[in-house]
Amino acid sequence: MNIFWNELVKQTDPYVPGEQPSTTDCIKLNTNENPYPPSPEVTKAIFQELNGSLRLYPSPSAQPLRETIADYYGVNANEVFIGNGSDEVLAFAFMTFFERGKPILFPDITYSFYPVYTRLFRLEAKPIPLNEDFSIPVEQFFHSEGGVIFPNPNAPTGKFVPLEAIEEIVQHNPDQVVIVDEAYVDFGGSSAIKLIEKYEQLLVIQTMSKSRSLAGLRIGYAVGNRHLIEGLNRVKNSFNSYTVDRLAIAGAQASFQDEQYFQRTRTKIIRTRERVRKELKQLGFEVVDSLANFLFITHPKAQAKRLYEQLKTNGIYVRYFDKPRINNFLRVTIGTDEEMDTFLDKIKEFV
Ligand code: PMP
Repeated sequence: MNIFWNELVKQTDPYVPGEQPSTTDCIKLNTNENPYPPSPEVTKAIFQELNGSLRLYPSPSAQPLRETIADYYGVNANEVFIGNGSDEVLAFAFMTFFERGKPILFPDITYSFYPVYTRLFRLEAKPIPLNEDFSIPVEQFFHSEGGVIFPNPNAPTGKFVPLEAIEEIVQHNPDQVVIVDEAYVDFGGSSAIKLIEKYEQLLVIQTMSKSRSLAGLRIGYAVGNRHLIEGLNRVKNSFNSYTVDRLAIAGAQASFQDEQYFQRTRTKIIRTRERVRKELKQLGFEVVDSLANFLFITHPKAQAKRLYEQLKTNGIYVRYFDKPRINNFLRVTIGTDEEMDTFLDKIKEFV
């Protein structure tokens, strides 16, 4: 059959998301979801909204949620942009701030959506190889031609760049936008949102999918100078004038209002991560210093791909990337303590 796609789409390898198995009868440690349910306040708020005003359009810019998020971080509502998951926010950011002919910088070994967006939006990138220990070579992100983007903590390694280094990167890119993708920052990192008043070219992107257990609700947001946010709104309005639906707005607001629940679950995940790290090391694994809700691991005497397959046969899903330099690593999401015990028991048998 004739394929009528344009040449660019034909030539772009699509982003390949982690498997979403059709059964719930498995231990799912492959897509960095939160093992705990969202705050009960979220469900309450969604039911309330369900019984209320679905007949009506939502606020086009999700204004009530912008205000909630602005209050939470101590910024103004016009410094917040909401999208359908941070993947969508990232797509709008690529369209708004990056230009053809001016290469952007991102780490070589990073979130695999960046190269896909780069190609689809006909941009150029100069991927910067990570150091031997997977840390980011900070100086190589200075003086970009077209802007900088990196996750902090990085994915899939979990390595965190301290805020001082981020400031250096931003200071050395005075005329380019620097985007910090903080999908995993709540698991022990420190957010660059506190720097946005100081640097008008800094955009911070976060998601409610990980630390707030709302991957299914699809809310991501960007925080930055109001001129950056205005640009994002201009691009977004050309695609879709209603940002997110009423149920998502209500649920997301409720999550920010239940701080205690948020703190309790994120602390629990950090504690489990540290315990699992220790146990994996005792089994001979090398474990990258992760400040995310996952660990990036390799074993000198085991083949990662085989381990991945053995675990899968036993109903345990972890993430394997068939890519140079990391093809002997596994990325393991931190689940509940019971899930991690089962994972550890099984992996003990295989190494
Ligand atoms: N950034 C990074 C680094 C991620 O790992 C993910 C999750 N795959 C996202 C952004 C997107 O998350 P979401 O679209 O669920 O907000």
